Amino acid sequence: MPDPEACWDAFARRDRAMDGRFVGAVLTTGIYCKPSCPARRPRRENMLFLPDPAAARAAGFRACLRCRPDEAGRDRLAVEAARALIAGAETPPTLDEVATHAGYAPHHFHRLFKRETGMTPAAYARALRAERLKAALGEEGSSVTQAIYEAGYNAPSRAYADAERHLGMTPSAWKDGGRDVEIRYALVPTSLGTALVAATEKGLCRISFDEDEADLRRRFPHAQIWPADARLAAMAKQVAALVDDPAAGADLPVDVNGTAFQQAIWAALRAIPPGETRSYAEIAAAIGKPGAVRAAGTACGDNGLAVLVPCHRVLRSDGGMGGYAYGLERKRALLAREKKG
Ligand SMILES: [Zn+2]
Repeated sequence: MPDPEACWDAFARRDRAMDGRFVGAVLTTGIYCKPSCPARRPRRENMLFLPDPAAARAAGFRACLRCRPDEAGRDRLAVEAARALIAGAETPPTLDEVATHAGYAPHHFHRLFKRETGMTPAAYARALRAERLKAALGEEGSSVTQAIYEAGYNAPSRAYADAERHLGMTPSAWKDGGRDVEIRYALVPTSLGTALVAATEKGLCRISFDEDEADLRRRFPHAQIWPADARLAAMAKQVAALVDDPAAGADLPVDVNGTAFQQAIWAALRAIPPGETRSYAEIAAAIGKPGAVRAAGTACGDNGLAVLVPCHRVLRSDGGMGGYAYGLERKRALLAREKKG
């Protein structure tokens, strides 16, 4: 229960969020109310704050007929019960199931749940499931696919959508961040500024500009980061040469994780011949998803291998430059170099 000052404050603001957390008893009238009661506020010195309706009744007060303070506690308990049901369920229960469990009509309960938690029951279930996915992905020896089903998803597509929203990255990228992977990196001078080149033992995992070791650690929080060895230094040299002459291409191994959609988009980018450009709409169409123009644009932006995966070859449909993670100057320069070649 909040302290009396906070209680008085909650009453003064008629704070719905505090309903069910305590009641205010009015000495002059002998009744008790919940904080949001619409009735006129009594004077501060005539109010007594008590933890719950039972305590108020034991002290001889009667429930207010206007705000029905006994129901507030009941509402809160019903929401708690629903949260427990959702948390314990393998797959998210329907609104009807949740409401029935709580003993309320679905429509009413939907509103009540949202008022108490700030989320609809469905959104709450999704957030919980995403948390479970996060935990499952962190388990040693489990695959991304196992984690997805363990978390209660029926299909990977849903898991990927939730992961993007709740984890801010794909399940495999998340797993990667938790993986004890060894990454070697170098900062190499190029004609377009210093490039960060990083690779796992399987292949390149990051090519970027204006980034340093700290950025790399943020991207791969659980990886072991080491300075370049001879192999990485050789790859970094090839990347620098590619920046000078992006049309030349480079046959370098890559090790990047992404959703099936992202992988498809990145493959489509690599299929654009040097010296040519495509629009985001054309890239979306190239992978058979002409409606996914915005998602294609996002996937281009998520490309972790600058220049090697030529996201700089994608322009807006109206011919405008569109965006580039490392500045339009660099995009223009890369395109100009390819035109010449
Ligand atoms: Zn009242």
